[in-house]
Amino acid sequence: MASELESEVQAIDRSLLECSAEEIAGVRAGAREGYVRPSQAAPRGRNGVLEIPKWLQATDLTREVYQHLAHCVPKIYCRGPNPFPQKEDTLAQHILLGPMEWYICGEDPALGFPKLEQANKPSHLCGRVFKVGEPTYSCRDCAVDPTCVLCMECFLGSIHRDHRYRMTTSGGGGFCDCGDTEAWKEGPYCQKHGLNSSEVVEEEDPLVHLSEDVIARTYNIFAIMFRYAVDILTWEKESELPADLEMEEKSDTYYCMLFNDEVHTYEQVIYTLQKAVNCTQKEAIGFATTVDRDGRRSVRYGDFQYCDQAKSVIVRNTSRQTKPLKVQVMHSSVAAHQNFGLKALSWLGSVIGYSDGLRRILCQVGLQEGPDGENSSLVDRLMLNDSKLWKGARSVYHQLFMSSLLMDLKYKKLFAVRFAKNYERLQSDYVTDDHDREFSVADLSVQIFTVPSLARMLITEENLMTVIIKAFMDHLKQRDAQGRFQFERYTALQAFKFRRVQSLILDLKYVLISKPTEWSDGLRQKFLEGFDAFLELLKCMQGMDPITRQVGQHIEMEPEWEAAFTLQMKLTHVISMVQDWCALDEKVLIEAYKKCLAVLMQCHGGFTDGEQPITLSICGHSVETIRYCVSQEKVSIHLPISRLLAGLHVLLSKSEVAYKFPELLPLSELSPPMLIEHPLRCLVLCAQVHAGMWRRNGFSLVNQIYYYHNVKCRREMFDKDIVMLQTGVSMMDPNHFLMIMLSRFELYQIFSTPDYGKRFSSEVTHKDMVQQNNTLIEEMLYLIIMLVGERFSPGVGQVSATDEIKREIIHQLSIKPMAHSELVKSLPEDENKETGMESVIETVAHFKKPGLTGRGMYELKPECAKEFNLYFYHFSRAEQSKAEEAQRKLKRQNREDTALPPPALPPFCPLFASLVNLLQSDVMLYIMGTILQWAVEHHGSAWSESMLQRVLHLIGMALQEEKHHLENAVEGHVETFTFTQKISKPGDAPNNSPSILAMLETLQNAPSLEVHKDMIRWLLKMFNAIKKIRESSSTSPVAETEGTIMEESSRDKDKAERKRKAEIARLRREKIMAQMSEMQRHFIDENKELFQQTVELDASVSATLDDRPLVSDTALTALGPAQTQVPEQRQFVTCILCQEEQEVTVESRAMVLAAFVQRSTVLSKDRTKFIQDPEKYDPLFMHPDLSCGTHTGSCGHVMHAHCWQRYFDSVQAKEQRRQQRLRLHTSYDVENGEFLCPLCECLSNTVIPLLLPPRSAFSRRLNFSDQPDLTQWIRTISQQIKALQVLRKEDNAPDTPSTENIEDMSDIQVPEGFRPDFHPKNPYSDSIKEMLTTFGTATYKVGLKVHPNEEDPRVPIMCWGSCAYTIQSIERILSDEEKPLFGPLPCRLDDCLRSLTRFAAAHWTVASLPVVQGHFCKLFASLVPNDSYEDLPCILDIDMFHLLVGLVLAFPALQCQDFSGSSVGTGDLHIFHLVTMAHIVQILLTSCTENGMDQENPTGEEELAVLSLHKTLHQCTGSALEEAPSGWHLWRNVRAGITPFLKCSALFFHYLNGVPAPPDLQVSGTSHFEHLCNYLSLPTNLIRLFQENSEIMNSLIESWCQNSEVKSYLKGERGAISYPRGSNKLIDLPEDYSSLINQASNFSCPKSGGDKSRAPTLCLVCGSLLCSQSYCCQAELEGEDVGACTAHTYSCGSGAGIFLRVRECQVLFLAGKTKGCFYSPPYLDDYGETDQGLRRGNPLHLCQERFRKIQKLWQQHSITEEIGHAQEANQTLVGIDWQHL
Ligand SMILES: [Zn+2]
Ligand SMILES: [Zn+2]
Ligand SMILES: [Zn+2]
Ligand SMILES: [Zn+2]
Ligand SMILES: [Zn+2]
Ligand SMILES: [Zn+2]
Ligand SMILES: [Zn+2]
Repeated sequence: MASELESEVQAIDRSLLECSAEEIAGVRAGAREGYVRPSQAAPRGRNGVLEIPKWLQATDLTREVYQHLAHCVPKIYCRGPNPFPQKEDTLAQHILLGPMEWYICGEDPALGFPKLEQANKPSHLCGRVFKVGEPTYSCRDCAVDPTCVLCMECFLGSIHRDHRYRMTTSGGGGFCDCGDTEAWKEGPYCQKHGLNSSEVVEEEDPLVHLSEDVIARTYNIFAIMFRYAVDILTWEKESELPADLEMEEKSDTYYCMLFNDEVHTYEQVIYTLQKAVNCTQKEAIGFATTVDRDGRRSVRYGDFQYCDQAKSVIVRNTSRQTKPLKVQVMHSSVAAHQNFGLKALSWLGSVIGYSDGLRRILCQVGLQEGPDGENSSLVDRLMLNDSKLWKGARSVYHQLFMSSLLMDLKYKKLFAVRFAKNYERLQSDYVTDDHDREFSVADLSVQIFTVPSLARMLITEENLMTVIIKAFMDHLKQRDAQGRFQFERYTALQAFKFRRVQSLILDLKYVLISKPTEWSDGLRQKFLEGFDAFLELLKCMQGMDPITRQVGQHIEMEPEWEAAFTLQMKLTHVISMVQDWCALDEKVLIEAYKKCLAVLMQCHGGFTDGEQPITLSICGHSVETIRYCVSQEKVSIHLPISRLLAGLHVLLSKSEVAYKFPELLPLSELSPPMLIEHPLRCLVLCAQVHAGMWRRNGFSLVNQIYYYHNVKCRREMFDKDIVMLQTGVSMMDPNHFLMIMLSRFELYQIFSTPDYGKRFSSEVTHKDMVQQNNTLIEEMLYLIIMLVGERFSPGVGQVSATDEIKREIIHQLSIKPMAHSELVKSLPEDENKETGMESVIETVAHFKKPGLTGRGMYELKPECAKEFNLYFYHFSRAEQSKAEEAQRKLKRQNREDTALPPPALPPFCPLFASLVNLLQSDVMLYIMGTILQWAVEHHGSAWSESMLQRVLHLIGMALQEEKHHLENAVEGHVETFTFTQKISKPGDAPNNSPSILAMLETLQNAPSLEVHKDMIRWLLKMFNAIKKIRESSSTSPVAETEGTIMEESSRDKDKAERKRKAEIARLRREKIMAQMSEMQRHFIDENKELFQQTVELDASVSATLDDRPLVSDTALTALGPAQTQVPEQRQFVTCILCQEEQEVTVESRAMVLAAFVQRSTVLSKDRTKFIQDPEKYDPLFMHPDLSCGTHTGSCGHVMHAHCWQRYFDSVQAKEQRRQQRLRLHTSYDVENGEFLCPLCECLSNTVIPLLLPPRSAFSRRLNFSDQPDLTQWIRTISQQIKALQVLRKEDNAPDTPSTENIEDMSDIQVPEGFRPDFHPKNPYSDSIKEMLTTFGTATYKVGLKVHPNEEDPRVPIMCWGSCAYTIQSIERILSDEEKPLFGPLPCRLDDCLRSLTRFAAAHWTVASLPVVQGHFCKLFASLVPNDSYEDLPCILDIDMFHLLVGLVLAFPALQCQDFSGSSVGTGDLHIFHLVTMAHIVQILLTSCTENGMDQENPTGEEELAVLSLHKTLHQCTGSALEEAPSGWHLWRNVRAGITPFLKCSALFFHYLNGVPAPPDLQVSGTSHFEHLCNYLSLPTNLIRLFQENSEIMNSLIESWCQNSEVKSYLKGERGAISYPRGSNKLIDLPEDYSSLINQASNFSCPKSGGDKSRAPTLCLVCGSLLCSQSYCCQAELEGEDVGACTAHTYSCGSGAGIFLRVRECQVLFLAGKTKGCFYSPPYLDDYGETDQGLRRGNPLHLCQERFRKIQKLWQQHSITEEIGHAQEANQTLVGIDWQHL
């Protein structure tokens, strides 16, 4: 073993390796025979005597081990400035830990541990500790609380995978609860951890599986090592060690150790380090990253002074912030021992993994009390020192706790007790510490408190509930004079501290989360004790933050309110849970009720506040109350005690305790006026705020009122205030209540004074005042509606919990259809984050699935509309009016009347039953009457329609109530609800007002109240219905409503007529509206096409294709001498900028299309290739892997070239001005020539000129009869090339006199009619020429990423290349989608391809003729050998389509000097045939030969021909090409392989020559091979080309096959692309999103040694996982630091990229360094919604359609464009530093 290690240990004292682990352990001392210890070896050990410790025989084992450690540890760890973790670990294992393992096992641990493992009965607990970002699963059906989670493996093997589960990513820490029977209501075990049926779940001492010896030895070693680790980790001296570890001679080597804190930012630390220790930025980043991860890192190594100096610089530099960075100068041996201490702890953790027995021993050791008594166990010591330890140390020992104490059922309990005993101290340490919660031992509370049995045990035995609450109160020391909490200004620091304190509330929640099923007396007693403490806490909140109305001046400073509300919000669930606990036990409930009431009375001690008693009286009723005005005195929104009492009161009713044990309840002590007083004040405050009376109190009050009603708080605020009022009213005379209410609303005057209203309006009082009072009256009526109508809490009304939730949902969906997440947000969640929605949603709503965009929606079932209550108490004002509008619209659509009457309500519970009398009380009737009177008399502004509407609603409610009573009346029972009777009576003297009924009838005809007519009619109908019931049962007489029925009928007729007319008018209106919206939609649809590049839009067929009836369809030929002649067509276009129309001609001013040129790897077959050195790169030959292409796209919008120039100049100028002013980015980069299309804002970076077919501009009409055949033509061209080459050579040698030239020319026989000195005239106008150069240069610049240079010889090549590449990419898309080749293309694509092809064909006219000729010669030479070129690629390494395009487009440069009579068309045809044949040979050489496909003798002509061609190839390659299996097979390969090429060629020649496509190619369907061949002037049997030209072809084939590259390919020495090339897709994504999360959580940053990546990001193009948005993986690109994604786009996507940010579930598009946007991910939950940020945690599944859409954007090169549109739409996207992602 020693020898193996030797290479590792240069820096280490070799003597360390001299004895083996077993010797040290003393297991086999000296057993190795013949082993002679070198006696001359340097003495080791303390006394200078050779000393071999033999632990097994040692009397003082501790001393021996410590000596060994003292000697060895500093020699292994911390030997220099940088740590070598691998080396240190190997050595530590061998020298330090090995002996211990030997000692434990008593034999070789390689044998011993497996034995232990075998004897071990595996635990049923999984206990896997989660890594950061690892997916965790919780079952919403079976988890006891949401903190119960499973790891992915357990989850997949559990029953919960088919349940309603929730998925989240772990923040690190915490472990899998699989196997914990207390965590799951069902299915606690997964398959792996399940019980065998034979096993009995019973606790068994795990030590029985171990031998006595092993137990004893393990105990010894664990005790020593655990203590050692604790001692050294909690050691505080910096340059001294504990005595028994101290060495004799100490070197002067120190570390400057930097610690992590949460105050300083990364940037500050990096900056400071660069200054302090003189390191590079890279090193500083490295240090900072480690400090952040591990909590500390040495930043300097050397003598004391050297390190101390660095320390003072760091401290000085960072002390400007709140506190300086923590730095220690530490002796290297201290650091060494601390490092080993950590190692020892993780070692303990791994050793106990072998056996539950070992684990138990460790627990025993850890919890054993030390010599100092209380809190002296090792576990205690670690916990109590937690906040002093650095991050790395903390997580190591936390993990050890989790894998030991928390995994052992017996010790878990003991540990829980220790934890609870230390609770207060741990919490206050945590609060003052600044590390995140997950790095604090306090965070273990979730592991302990959420175990129901432990929680209950801790409550009963350790009084945990009280402890937590007391600890919490201790942290909130600031109180006002009344002892209530008082919060300081909410500064950042305050907020930080306060957040930490809140974790105690979370603990309280954990303790309460699982409710007891059984109560012991002890639990009752301690719970009630805790309840007392809780009341104490709430008492400090009762009345906190009181406010007084500001009059005159606006408040100067917004008062602090957030802290109080945060507290309330955090406590909301706890308050609810406390009530739930109380509900479970009658005794507890009764006691709690008493206690709560007592505390409330205390709070109200000074109830009257010295206010004057007054007497109110209306309608002969009078009541005593106090004078109190909300608008003048202090009032508070915080009333938790009275709200808790309200909650308990409902529970009394719900559990029927109130009826069972009335004698035990202090009901007689209840004073209803006292109960209602404060909640009423609070509600009046809300009303007054709404009425605008508190405007001067600023926004803080508005916010408070908002939260008071908000779904997060209302359950324990607003809702309970309503309940409290209901409680009070049900116990008092409703008339009294109404008078008190009038008084608190400050409306008593108005209603108690006769004719007040009249006087009020006649006096020209403040208009504001009138408005204010109107609003207050409306609010008061609303409150009455709520008090009587809100009976959907179980206990208030006779309903179940599902009724309540159903009603909430119905009202939410009455506003509008909603997505699942929206609905969840609007419903209150319980402590388990459940809304209960799933259980009822199906009964009230339909689900509508989402389309390609948008979300799935729930729509209210129509039959539920009748349960709609306009005055639902959880509506905000905006929601209420939206819902009203929506419901009325719905009714109109259904041709119903538009009344929205109150729904029928469930009955009250008996305790609240008397509430209904509010409706028929005298004061109520009086109020109703008064308001109706105002409406009848139509007092100016002193009443409002809303007021009337509410009164009508109240009347409706009363009628509903009466009807219900009558229908459910028990025989003989006296009916007490007689509303109909009361409203039929006219008012008493002296008022003598008409009856309410009479007034209703009057109002029915009031023309101004059209809106309310339907409602009034409904009321009257209802009234008559009740009357009928009464008459039929004739229990009590009802006053006659004379004449109503008579009137009714005549009125009805009248009505019917009016209604019919209205109906006709409505229909007409609707029709017009429908027409208009149809037109609008049409317009949008049409224009949408401008923005979405979709090939599938069939509607917009390119116009030019259609109107060409001129040519006969039958024999369309795209090229060659036989090319179908297309009559010239005149083309007119309109400039989008000046709107002028112009014809496209050769001489006219140039018209241009906005275009976007980009590099592309979409078609690439080799993503490792990219252009290394653009200056030297030669693009002439495109490799068949298409690794780097240049794509051109266009939105198809046409402009004058000069209009565009002017536009672009102005954009540029504007941009320069703007940048100077604002320094903002735009979505486009003007300096790079980018601009937005002025019409559609599509990102563009150049323009393409519009041209007529360029060939016709040159074609000299010739006699086609005598054209050369292929062989002749090749010979002629070869001669011409030769002539040119000679000429060129002489040009390059200027010495030779020009006369000789001509002689030489004659020497080499210039072919007949060839005039190399002829220079054709350029036919284009200057403006077109200029644009040809512009676009050519742009393509060159972008494609090669070089500076523009129009003279560069590569410019024409880039133009041809972009044309070829763009055609190929479109052909791929069409084939992938099985679209016809010449089917309807969107105009923009059609225009783009046409312009691009014609441009590329015309570009040679502005390039240098010799250059283009040179390119032609070289391209030609790749097929027809020519001695002058040596470095040509072999035919396997050429993309034939690129070659074809290059040859065809360069050819005119040669042909223009040829006057022999050979035409361009002839040349095109021959070039095309030649390249086609080369491609066939290429395909035959590379197609893989499948054997076993033998067919009988080939029959078809094609098959025979291809077989013979193959034979030729076989011969030419010297039999290297395998024999062909079958002709049929070969022919199939050739056809399949060549089809893409033929299709591209067809597109190319179609756009080049303008010959319309044959109709067969315009429709999709089966292969159109024959049509394609005909169109391209090819024989259907392609092999015939070879046969017809065998003379020349045989020699060419021979030359192709002789190439050495071809040979080496055939020998299998290199690869080659085979055909057809498959199309590139984005990577396959898994169906279940969690497997992606899992994959990402296993991914570690490639640069920082096994560290987890914070933002793992998946490249959807190649599947690489990247460590994004992090310093560690930044790379340098063009002199700038960029994030991993941006760096990756440059290699993988030549600048553009598509990523999936796995933690966020978000798609990221990037382009270049400055452009990016987020895109909605292709994963949806079952409700059809995405979950960006993974906040909801619903299971997510791949949506294929959406993924295909993303893929299409990519294939269509639209990523950059999409980013542009997103950035234009959302300016904030522009500001993001995309390059750092
Ligand atoms: Zn697990
Ligand atoms: Zn499991
Ligand atoms: Zn389940
Ligand atoms: Zn123009
Ligand atoms: Zn446009
Ligand atoms: Zn990284
Ligand atoms: Zn990639």
